[in-house]
Amino acid sequence: MISISKLLCDLDAEGDGLRYDAADGSEKPQITEEKQRNPVVVWNATRRCNLYCSHCYAGAETEPAPGEFSTAEAKAFLDQLADYGAPVVLFSGGEPLVRDDLVDLVGYAADRGLRPVLSSNGTLLTGEKAAALRDAGLQYAGISVDGLPERNDRFRGEDGAFDAAVRGIENCLDAGLKTGLRYTITEANAADLEGVVDLLADVGLDRFCFYHLDYGGRGAEIVDADLTPREKREAVRSVADLTLEYHDRGEEIETLLVGNYADAAFLVEYAREEFGEAKARAVYEYLERNGGDPTGERIADVDYEGNVHLTQFWQGYSLGNVRDRPFGEIWEDESNPLLNALRNREQHLTGKCADCQYRSICRGASRLRALAETGDLFAPDPQCYLTDDEVHGETPAAGGAAD
Ligand code: SF4
Repeated sequence: MISISKLLCDLDAEGDGLRYDAADGSEKPQITEEKQRNPVVVWNATRRCNLYCSHCYAGAETEPAPGEFSTAEAKAFLDQLADYGAPVVLFSGGEPLVRDDLVDLVGYAADRGLRPVLSSNGTLLTGEKAAALRDAGLQYAGISVDGLPERNDRFRGEDGAFDAAVRGIENCLDAGLKTGLRYTITEANAADLEGVVDLLADVGLDRFCFYHLDYGGRGAEIVDADLTPREKREAVRSVADLTLEYHDRGEEIETLLVGNYADAAFLVEYAREEFGEAKARAVYEYLERNGGDPTGERIADVDYEGNVHLTQFWQGYSLGNVRDRPFGEIWEDESNPLLNALRNREQHLTGKCADCQYRSICRGASRLRALAETGDLFAPDPQCYLTDDEVHGETPAAGGAAD
């Protein structure tokens, strides 16, 4: 995740310690330094979902799938994460709220010292459920809204899904839960980007997470609906512009970019354009601490059957199963060739990534998209939108021209 509001507006947030190691004197509660080294773990607590979204990375279905963890198995798995020192467990799905034991499991995770957070379509978040999750120790709810009503409902496969998600957001806010809105951009909903950001104020939110499409699960079936690289650049520029506009009006919103680390490089260029070289250098230094694309390092995924994946979007490849070996053992086992290669990816990157000035803050962006599009794990990400001049320029940290 790349926080535009942190980089451009110095907006303080609780996740800064995870994203930039030291949180630079933040007054917000932060993850301890020891835990920052370990991955945030996305757990697909179920494959079942009450909706059927066209971009679902988990390929969720409306019917129950065999092989899901029982409550006892789920707790044993959470014990593994706690013993390993995972900082955060993100309850995802499918739709995690279809599990009757979700509140119990969130409470168990919190008791074991994990920071439980939730990714949900929001439609099942009643007031009662939101309050129960808060009481159990839930720290954050991220709710997906992929456009204004008409486009969102088409994307999500159900009339009324938008209204139900907004009700879920309001219920979370009424319960005092920190809540954010997640939006995945495609050709089908790009026209709603600004309207979705404006929606934040209407529903009382101040956190916006912008997701690029990754090519996992049903996302692989709608690759043609992905924006062109040029359109992506303009969409990211719009999010940066909106962040600054809100900041200038004194209405701070936290804005985050997810799923394409070419955005990190773009933000350095954007900071130079808007504020000059000193700001570009400061942004670059923060992003160096962020460390580029986190796949296989600072993010992990465990699916509903217990298979460990390099990220939640890369469900087609398993590193092992937590029913056979503890999560920490699987994650630390660098005899796995793919894990090893990804952790040393800078030496393997080819094409324009190989000599890109931004490779240490981007690290080749999505290896999954490169693999899906070209069959080559280390080819450039087809969704990198940097120009040749930008790729081959001089990094601000290397001493670009002063203001
Ligand atoms: S060329 Fe490669 S390393 Fe450079 S910004 Fe693009 S994806 Fe990232």
